[in-house]
Amino acid sequence: MTDRRISSIAIVGGGTAGWMAAAGLARSLAGMPVRIHLIESRQIGSVGVGEATIPPIMDFIRQLGIDENELIREVKATFKLGIGYRDWTRIGHFYFHPFGPTGPGIGSVSFPAYWLKMFLEGKATRLEDYSIQAVAAERGRFARPVHAPNTPLNKITYALHFDASQFARYLRRFAEARGVQRTEGEVRRVLLRPQDGFIESVSLESGETIAADLFLDCSGFRGVLIEEALATGYDNWSHWLPCDRALVVHSERAGAPAPYTLVTARDAGWQWRIPLQHRDGNGYVYGSAFASDEAARNVLLTNLAGKALGEPMPLRFTPGRRRRAWHRNCVALGLAAGFLEPLEATSIHLIQRGIAMLLKFFPDRDFALADIERYNRMLEFEFERVRDFLLMHYTQTERAASFWDHCRAIPLTDSLREKLELFRSHGRILREDSELFPVLSWLSVLVGQNIIPRRYDPMVDGLDPEKIRTRLDDIRDAVRRCADAMPSHQDFIDSIALSRTTSPHAVPS
Ligand SMILES: Cc1cc2nc3c(=O)[nH]c(=O)nc-3n(C[C@H](O)[C@H](O)[C@H](O)COP(=O)(O)OP(=O)(O)OC[C@H]3O[C@@H](n4cnc5c(N)ncnc54)[C@H](O)[C@@H]3O)c2cc1C
Repeated sequence: MTDRRISSIAIVGGGTAGWMAAAGLARSLAGMPVRIHLIESRQIGSVGVGEATIPPIMDFIRQLGIDENELIREVKATFKLGIGYRDWTRIGHFYFHPFGPTGPGIGSVSFPAYWLKMFLEGKATRLEDYSIQAVAAERGRFARPVHAPNTPLNKITYALHFDASQFARYLRRFAEARGVQRTEGEVRRVLLRPQDGFIESVSLESGETIAADLFLDCSGFRGVLIEEALATGYDNWSHWLPCDRALVVHSERAGAPAPYTLVTARDAGWQWRIPLQHRDGNGYVYGSAFASDEAARNVLLTNLAGKALGEPMPLRFTPGRRRRAWHRNCVALGLAAGFLEPLEATSIHLIQRGIAMLLKFFPDRDFALADIERYNRMLEFEFERVRDFLLMHYTQTERAASFWDHCRAIPLTDSLREKLELFRSHGRILREDSELFPVLSWLSVLVGQNIIPRRYDPMVDGLDPEKIRTRLDDIRDAVRRCADAMPSHQDFIDSIALSRTTSPHAVPS
């Protein structure tokens, strides 16, 4: 029997996607005779703006065996407990989308069901009061979860904000220490096998040719392999997602770092503030049909908390996804696979999912079509559900301005329409299969954007209202007490800086 195993992988691109893939594969394929080669071009550079993450990134870091504190020091990270939405529903309004699970159920009745009943009757306070993430974030506090059964401290759920370029550099050292070979250079030609159109090799401007069994396209928006060579096609989702430009600028830190991303709605889009240890990251994401680049620049620069550190960097994008992220012997990851704007910081997560699913369906040189098709279907589902979640933010607001009028008129997808109807009828939220956002995320944004169910779930009527009230009071009190006992976010970061140790997983610089 001939050996059909993959023996070589070439990764084109050394941004966040390329180095995450290199690190993930180097770790997972260790012990297998597979050579991994990464090609990147300093001339072209990387986007390097993805600085906010969501909680599953912590699993990626742990699975690599990386010491979390060491990483936090190196990539100047801060902690993220969720996203604060300012002026989004209407000017002057604020709501918080916290990470984490909802409160505990009572018997078979879920927390959202009984909280909603009491909220509709004016007997429960706002949703944020029952989330340790939301209350800690509002008070500028942070701690990691501790083993304290039956308390909110047990379930603290967090992600990181980090310097994207430092993160890629860190992963590069990790990957190179595990045998990944890096070549500096620009891919100029992609050679396809005449018999089946599979990629045989790529040639660099130096004349060097690199052949491999499997190619990962991490080359960013252009999709040098998946699109320019394989013409896989792109589904343009701009009829659902109205923003197509961004301006990005760093600024001096003003005050202690908040343990959350702040998102503020503007007349033609929204602005983010991501606090890092040494600076803030800022960006204005907007629809070019509703603001000129110059107007957007003014809005961004006049709304920074600290002094701008340079000129804003412009970026253009088309929201959507590659029709097939895996085609023949090429898998696209990161921006090459598609881009859904960063409102909920999902792009790095989709890279992580792409890598995890590639490992799940790791091919041999026959590249079974069933595996490829299942991979593509799963990724498509994840992209679509993220798209729905984003779309909900845009269509359900009360803001005035032509951009927001346009957003309210965007036709909903069938899947989102069903979600909204289920919620409006009896406050029900269903999480399907591998859907990313948990119930608390949907509930927070739905209620935050003033979507209030007509009726509550009738199953709640089986509960004694006094018992519900006591349970809600207990949760709220416990959340408040636990948040008060947590250190400030700044103190927590300082303690990590002071605890500098050489971890068993430290990567040589
Ligand atoms: C405005 C904005 C804000 C964002 N914010 C977030 C966020 O908060 N959270 C989040 O999760 N995501 C965010 N993202 C997305 C995130 O930035 C990307 O998912 C992430 O950086 C991955 O990018 P990439 O590695 O796919 O592409 P890039 O960073 O563009 O890297 C492409 C790489 O390919 C190389 N390359 C390209 N062509 C060639 C060639 N011909 N030969 C050799 N090498 C080549 C380049 O040199 C580079 O190394 C944001 C994106 C934008 C546009």
